[in-house]
Amino acid sequence: MVDAEGGIVAMRRVATSGDGPEAVVAQIGALVAAVRRPGAAAIGIGVPGAIDAAAGLVLNIPALPGWGGFPLVEQVGRSTGLSALIENDAKAAALGEFRAGAGRGVQNVAYVTIGTGIGGGMIVDGRLLRGAGGLAGEVGHTHVTDSPEICACGRTGCWQAVASGTALGRDARNALGTRPDSEIARVAGDAPVTAVHVAAAGRLGDPLARELLRRFAQLIGMGLANVQHCYSPELIVLGGGVSMFLDLLQADIEAALRAGLLPGFRPARIVPAALGDDSGIVGAAMLAREALPNA
Ligand SMILES: [Zn+2]
Repeated sequence: MVDAEGGIVAMRRVATSGDGPEAVVAQIGALVAAVRRPGAAAIGIGVPGAIDAAAGLVLNIPALPGWGGFPLVEQVGRSTGLSALIENDAKAAALGEFRAGAGRGVQNVAYVTIGTGIGGGMIVDGRLLRGAGGLAGEVGHTHVTDSPEICACGRTGCWQAVASGTALGRDARNALGTRPDSEIARVAGDAPVTAVHVAAAGRLGDPLARELLRRFAQLIGMGLANVQHCYSPELIVLGGGVSMFLDLLQADIEAALRAGLLPGFRPARIVPAALGDDSGIVGAAMLAREALPNA
């Protein structure tokens, strides 16, 4: 439940059901009942995939089968009695940071979330950029490399395939094959090595972790140079799990961004998302509120 200024009034969190869209609509109904306050007028939903916003349809959610063509807006509207709206989750998060987070008052903001994958939402000249079909800003699958790692989309060369948190964890596991004495292995213990362990070992000064983080930051900066060339942001807001250890990466990201820019381009300031995991919640709510006829 979000107020008019983008403040979170009440929140509940559950793991999304994998039993198909009807089960998730039931979950949404229960969550809305739990947090709803008098005066609630609309519900905004961030969807981790492609949508048809005008028709209120989910087109595809890569992580969840069975959602193609599902009329989420109509179903949630019926179960809650509220006016519903859907938006891509990264675009909703971009809007949340623009209205109530790190991008407040800035007219050109690139929001890039780096976690399991890489997603993006662009604020250009004070407006959320949607493009035909609402698909603009899908920066994670821009081609940045000839290296052979296969992306979640099945292709090679994607930014996401080399500069996501998933990629950092994979690169660390590969590197540990020849350097098993690294702190990364000790920090991870019996658990599979992930980006979080690389960051923890990096904080301890582990040489392999530092090497992996430097290369990782360079790859992030290289992709951000593409973002800068395409959208010319003044501010880049980084969200997702990787933003939790941005301090370890920031100097190398900035250097790679500067090095990748054409003459005349000024590198954007890079800051972590101010709303953390909640950017998308706040943004989706504000979009739903603004879509009301009397807003
Ligand atoms: Zn891809």
